[in-house]
Amino acid sequence: MYYYSTNHTAARATLRDAVVRGLAEDRGLYMPEVIKQLPASFWDEIGELSFQDVAYRVADAFFGEDVEADALRKIVNDTLAFDCPVVKVEDNIYALELFHGPTLAFKDVGARFMARLLRYFAPADGGSKVNVLVATSGDTGSAVANGFLGVEGIHVYVLYPKGKVSPIQECQFTTLGQNITAIEVDGVFDDCQALVKSAFMDKELNAHMRLTSANSINVARFLPQAFYYFWAYAQLTKLNAGTAFNLVTCVPSGNFGNICSSLFGHVMGLPVKRFIAANNANSVFYEYLQSGEYRPRPSVQTIANAMDVGDPSNFARILDLYNREDVLKQLGFAVLPQPQEHHSPRPNRGGVRGGASFISGATYSDDQIAETMRDCYARTGYILDPHGACGYRALKEQLQPDEIGIFLETAHPAKFKDTVDRILAIDLPIPEKLQAFMRGTKQSVPLPKDFSAFKAFLMRQ
Ligand SMILES: *Cc1c(COP(=O)(O)O)cnc(C)c1O
Repeated sequence: MYYYSTNHTAARATLRDAVVRGLAEDRGLYMPEVIKQLPASFWDEIGELSFQDVAYRVADAFFGEDVEADALRKIVNDTLAFDCPVVKVEDNIYALELFHGPTLAFKDVGARFMARLLRYFAPADGGSKVNVLVATSGDTGSAVANGFLGVEGIHVYVLYPKGKVSPIQECQFTTLGQNITAIEVDGVFDDCQALVKSAFMDKELNAHMRLTSANSINVARFLPQAFYYFWAYAQLTKLNAGTAFNLVTCVPSGNFGNICSSLFGHVMGLPVKRFIAANNANSVFYEYLQSGEYRPRPSVQTIANAMDVGDPSNFARILDLYNREDVLKQLGFAVLPQPQEHHSPRPNRGGVRGGASFISGATYSDDQIAETMRDCYARTGYILDPHGACGYRALKEQLQPDEIGIFLETAHPAKFKDTVDRILAIDLPIPEKLQAFMRGTKQSVPLPKDFSAFKAFLMRQ
C-alpha cells in the first residue's frame, strides 16, 4: 500500500519509507491510500476473539500488503503484551484503560509497534544499526525508550532538559540501559529539539550513522492505536450479550493522534455512533467545531499537560480524511464544518455541516478538571487522571439516555501523583511497575546544549 502526504505535493511513499521518514518531504503527514473495510465475518465473531486476534485483523488491513503475515502477527503479539480493559465506572459510562503498559500510558502501544516495525524494515537497508533520536519534555521519551528497549538493531538516544522533567518521568528512561542512552542536556526542551533537528541535517553525521526519529505523527505509531478501539467494542459486545447498542467514544485529545486513529477505525466499519474530542483549556479544535475557523496559537499550561497543544498536528489528517471521496461515499454524510478557505490546506468538499453532531467537542479549565475528579471519586470511587477526567466529563455532559459511552483513560493517575493527591486529598499508591523504575540506577550522559558537543558524542558511537 502507498502513503500520500496531506500536503499533496510529495511523491507517494511505501510503508517502509513512510515509517523511516516520519514526515513527508513537503512537511505533510502520511495517509494510507486505501482504508480497507473489515468483512462481515469479522464483526460476527469479534465477541469471541482475543485482543491480539482483533488487533491482528486491523493490522492486516493496514499493513498486510507490506509485512509478511507471520512477522506482522509477531509484531502485534509482542506489542500487545498487556491488556486494555474496559471498566465500568457507572451506568452507561465505561473507561477504556490504556495504562497497563510499561510506562502506564497509551503511547506505549504506538511506540512498541513502531519499534518492531522499524526493526522489521531495517535489514532492507544493509543491516546497519538504526539510531533513533528523540527529544522529550517527559512522557514521549519514556514511551519511546521502553517501546524500543531490547529491540535488536536499534539504538535510542533520548534527549531531555536537565532538571525540567519530574523524577517519576526521568527514571522511566534513564534507568533502562541496554540499547537506550539518556542524554541530559543543560538547557530547556526547545534546546533538545534543536539538537535533534541539527543532527538530522548534518551531512557528516548522517554519513557516519543511520538516524531516524520516532515522532508521534509516524504512521507506525499512529495507526496501531486503532487496535484498542476495536477491542473496546469487542468487550462491550460481550458485556451487552450481543444486543445492539449506540456507542459514543470520547477521547481526551492534544495532538489528536489518538482520536484520529479511532476515526480511521470508524471508516473501516467500527460501529461508533459519534465521537467527542475532549480538550483542556487548549480549545483550538473545539472552537473550530463551533465556528469552522481553525486558529492555532501557543499552548497554555494545564494540569492535563500531555494535552497542552495549541496547533494539533493531526488536524491535517482529520481534514484530509473527511475530504476523501472514498470516505465521504462510505459514510454517506459530511463530517466537518466548512473551514475558511485560507485556513484549509485544500478546498473542503465536505460541504454543509450535515454530520456536525458526529464529532462534538468540549473544553475544560483546570478547576473544572479538578471538580470532575473529585465528583467522580466521591460518587463512584473511580480515580481519574487529569486527562481522562476531561473525557469522563464530556461524556457525562453529552451522553443521551439511549447511548453507551466510553472514554479513554490515557494514563495511570499515579503518573500525576502530586496533582491527583492534592485534588482528591489521598495518598495514591504507586504501582509496582513505576516503583521498579524508581529503584533503578540513573545513567545519563550530561551534555551542554551546543550542537558541536552532541555531534562529537554521536561521532564516537
Ligand atoms: C499524549 C497524551 C494525550 C493526547 O493524545 P493525542 O494523541 O496527542 O491527542 C492525552 N493523554 C495523555 C496521558 C497523553 O500522554
